Amino acid sequence: MAIVIVDDTIFSLKVIEAFLMSAGYLDVITLKSARELYQLVDGYSERGIVKIDLILMDIVMPEVDGIEACRNVKKREWLVDVPVIMVTATTEKDDLQMAFAAGAMDFIKKPLDKMELLARVRSALRLKHETYRRKARETELLEVTHQLQAANEMLQNLSYLDGLTGIANRRHFDQGLLQESRRAKREGSPLSLIMLDIDYFKAFNDTYGHLQGDDCLKTVASTLKQTLKRPGDFPARYGGEEFAVVLPNTNDVGAAIIAEELRASIERAGIPHINSPSEDHVTVSLGVVTRFPGQADTPDDLILAADRALYSSKHEGRNRVSVERLPKIDET
Ligand code: GH3
Ligand code: MG
Ligand code: MG
Repeated sequence: MAIVIVDDTIFSLKVIEAFLMSAGYLDVITLKSARELYQLVDGYSERGIVKIDLILMDIVMPEVDGIEACRNVKKREWLVDVPVIMVTATTEKDDLQMAFAAGAMDFIKKPLDKMELLARVRSALRLKHETYRRKARETELLEVTHQLQAANEMLQNLSYLDGLTGIANRRHFDQGLLQESRRAKREGSPLSLIMLDIDYFKAFNDTYGHLQGDDCLKTVASTLKQTLKRPGDFPARYGGEEFAVVLPNTNDVGAAIIAEELRASIERAGIPHINSPSEDHVTVSLGVVTRFPGQADTPDDLILAADRALYSSKHEGRNRVSVERLPKIDET
């Protein structure tokens, strides 16, 4: 790392260089003009690319003065944090103001006092070092923050999505149903729930093997997702070969229509099931329940009622939709 001195008088260059060398700063580059400085910082000098620690710059120079040179050098992004100390015989307020405006951090008066010069150099170097350290820490912190965000996102997905089918898992479903129940009560809107179970799935596994069984579950899940059209409709894997769909703001008629669409779309998917006692393809049974405003219930009551409806569908021959009605508040 080098300290660069820019001054048009050889005498000044020699004096500053000697002061710095005597204090142990051995890499000192002396330049006679702003032009030479530009060549150095842009890597065109004979030393090639040089890492610069500090620039000591004379203000009064022919052609380009120190203030202009400072302003110009500071346009380069890699030199923004490199301190520039002005070395000047004039202590005119205007000159100094312009020097600071151009990006200089300090100034030293000529004739030069060795102690003063070295003290200013030391503090400028310390400041630069601190600035670099702080920036490095900030970059590191930003990177760690990004890594944390990514890890959190992954964890969220892991804990909310079912690993096999990629739709919401039981935990997410429980939260979703609770949230929608509260919203329905608050807004006085109906809320429907569909429970859905694959028919004769044990026989499917026994016939085609567990891996094919898993594929069948994936197909059922993606068919459900594709068939549901409203963004609020919320399908989830409830467990095993059982699925659930929460339908916010949907009455009993609407829910029954959607349940029938789901049943038909899975039948249309045409997953072969030669050992099914009823059909030669995979079918599902569904149970539907709707909560209207004024009907007291908990999410668990809704699930139990939908389960009862599902049981009816199984009992009545499978591959069908059954609807369970909740009692009115004043009937209970
Ligand atoms: P029903 O028509 O009455 O629903 O009969 P079923 O055979 O579908 O019902 P049962 O509850 O007897 O069997 C469910 C089967 O689902 C048994 C179990 O091995 C299988 N199963 C549950 N989870 C998975 C899974 O993640 N992958 C696979 N391949 N099979 C599963
Ligand atoms: Mg089943
Ligand atoms: Mg089951």
